[in-house]
Amino acid sequence: MSDLRHPSDETLLRLAYGSLGLGPSAVVGAHVAGCARCGGVVEDFERVAGALLELLPDADVPADGLARALAAIERDAPRPGEAPPAPPASRVEMPKGVALPQSVGDCDFSPWRTIAPGIRVSRARAHWARAFNVKLLSVQPGKRLLMHGHRGVEWTCVLAGAFHDGRARFAAGDLCEVDESVDHRPVVEPGEACVCLVAAEGSTRHHGMAGRLHQAIFGD
Ligand SMILES: [Zn+2]
Repeated sequence: MSDLRHPSDETLLRLAYGSLGLGPSAVVGAHVAGCARCGGVVEDFERVAGALLELLPDADVPADGLARALAAIERDAPRPGEAPPAPPASRVEMPKGVALPQSVGDCDFSPWRTIAPGIRVSRARAHWARAFNVKLLSVQPGKRLLMHGHRGVEWTCVLAGAFHDGRARFAAGDLCEVDESVDHRPVVEPGEACVCLVAAEGSTRHHGMAGRLHQAIFGD
């Protein structure tokens, strides 16, 4: 796909095959849930994966595979009388009219923290994943973020408002995927604050002293 407002085919393939990290899966999943085009691609990949599994020699699948899987599920299920595994999620105050995507609906969000004038961050924690590393970012209209590059891949799903990163405009529902080949400096459009869900794989390359601010946002 050449449209920059959707995840790459590689990311969709990893999402379908379950090899994408849980944090990036939640961010990319927030886009895919509302994008017929990407949803269709993921379904195609899942069909191919299913067909490939059927081609595997029987020897690769243990005869008691189903019984083992059921036993594992039973072990993980809460026993009667036990406290439910998931405590009620703490909610962050979202801007009026902006909802959290379902893919992070069960997460705990820390209260907003202002890390620079006009920039607020809330960290998401998932009780089911130790390394989740998803952030909610709210940037005031007209604000320019710092120029930064990446050693891995970073996914940003826009929930409200819009920004331009010099390559394309990203508005609500769009997903911006950048890898080590991209140095970008997003600028939020005038009008309303831009609220995004962000996850990264690998670390970010910072440019000069000002890059410390980006480090404060993303914590890597
Ligand atoms: Zn899409």
